[in-house]
Amino acid sequence: MKKSKLTIKDKQIGKWQCVSGCGACCNLTPEERPDLEEYLPKEELETYLNMVGEDGWCINYDHDHRKCQIYEQRPRFCRVQPDNFESMFGIEPIEFNEFAIACCQEQITGVYGVESPELKHYNQETTQN
Ligand code: SF4
Ligand code: SF4
Repeated sequence: MKKSKLTIKDKQIGKWQCVSGCGACCNLTPEERPDLEEYLPKEELETYLNMVGEDGWCINYDHDHRKCQIYEQRPRFCRVQPDNFESMFGIEPIEFNEFAIACCQEQITGVYGVESPELKHYNQETTQN
């Protein structure tokens, strides 16, 4: 997951969740995440870069099913949870929900587009207008 610069406005924020059939954050294209070095220690950065496939997607990503093939063993930076967001991004647990939703929205928009069914689905699941 990458750090979002977005904030959610004019919406009632729901609870963060990962939705099925997404997989957007498994696109690891480093050029899209220029601040990687700011929040990943050297060893994790190495792990991250070793996971990037030629097409920019994680080598552990199952495109057909849009699923992680090493889910239980996935690295810390793939785990969207308050303690990780605090240690990586300095996000207080109380801010986690809004921030994590914004991260997903930004990632989904970047990968699938602002008009994508993936973003619509995500917003339906996590926010109410
Ligand atoms: S971007 Fe968010 S919803 Fe999509 S796979 Fe990643 S954590 Fe799940
Ligand atoms: S390890 Fe799994 S969750 Fe992490 S980027 Fe790769 S496919 Fe996605």
